Amino acid sequence: MNSQGSVYADEKQRALLTGIEKGLHDPIHILAACSGYKVSVQKHHLQRLLPPLAHIHYGPGCSACLVLPTFVDKLLAYAKRSNVIVATYADLLGIPGSVSTLEKARTAGADIRVINSVWDALLLAKKNRRKRIVFPATGFESAASATAAGILQAKVAGIFNVQVLSGHKRILAGMEALLQRDNIAVDGIMSSGRVAASMGADYFRVVTEKYHKPQVISGYEPDEILGAILHLVQQRNGKSAVTENLFPAAVTSQGNLKSHELLEEVFEPVETEWAGFGKLEKSGLSIKEAYRMFDAEKVFFDVETSKPVLPEGCLCGEIMRGEKLPSDCPFFCKSCNPVNAVGACMYSQEGPCRVDFLYRQ
Ligand code: SF4
Repeated sequence: MNSQGSVYADEKQRALLTGIEKGLHDPIHILAACSGYKVSVQKHHLQRLLPPLAHIHYGPGCSACLVLPTFVDKLLAYAKRSNVIVATYADLLGIPGSVSTLEKARTAGADIRVINSVWDALLLAKKNRRKRIVFPATGFESAASATAAGILQAKVAGIFNVQVLSGHKRILAGMEALLQRDNIAVDGIMSSGRVAASMGADYFRVVTEKYHKPQVISGYEPDEILGAILHLVQQRNGKSAVTENLFPAAVTSQGNLKSHELLEEVFEPVETEWAGFGKLEKSGLSIKEAYRMFDAEKVFFDVETSKPVLPEGCLCGEIMRGEKLPSDCPFFCKSCNPVNAVGACMYSQEGPCRVDFLYRQ
């Protein structure tokens, strides 16, 4: 984009845009099921290049935004104990609990440390044998398989003072919840290239089979996203509904078989509540009984939390469901901004409100 606000497309992008424009005679509504797609579209101003008939809806996307305040409340309760260190990704620090955040508790003296992976949590546990290290684990299947690898390694190495609070979710359950809503008639789906890299393209075929919608698995570069949209337009025009893997550099049909094994070994699907969605069947990943010694909820079984209190007036839930836009929220860019985030959607790096704030024109 130049200083006058014009957006440039290179030759390849112009060819893709021409193809999309020629193929579009009616509006097309695309569900982009990964927050990375929103980041790329906003960052490269693709929505301004696309014809007005192309509508992209984002969801369920940002995993940190789907965390319930009770998830944070539990961590705050653990952190009050003198023998606990909460070891978390920075992205969770400012996510609002019912009354506070990890960031505020840390400022008040709680031992809350920022780590970059589950392996850092293991290292911390090894160095602090008299403490319990609580690792809040969020993210979809690909992140969960990394957590599973950490739990298995902790068992092998005899590191039993590391506990995981699992907030992991199954992206398929969130996609299905969105496809079953009747507020948006979805014409095509862009499924997460990140999750597909570990789970494989075949993992997503069930969506096409069940909902008879065109589906593509895409990369995140502007050309790849425009190519994905073109394929969805072509599928719709050809009355076809298949799953196309347009990201073969990272995604195979079956994915990483080791990731599948790790997930199967450590986690089991359970009903869980998603912020903005409510309870969804088989949508969460809970640590199996055989690994209960690593499950924070089992080890700290005496910690109870009350009903979650969501930030008043925050439209995060509606935005995550694709029903509203960040700009519909009266707090957006006013009392709510990345420095003073009211809801998780503004705090998280890939939260829809934060992305729109950063790349607003
Ligand atoms: S702008 Fe802030 S208050 Fe509004 S929906 Fe987004 S996170 Fe919530």
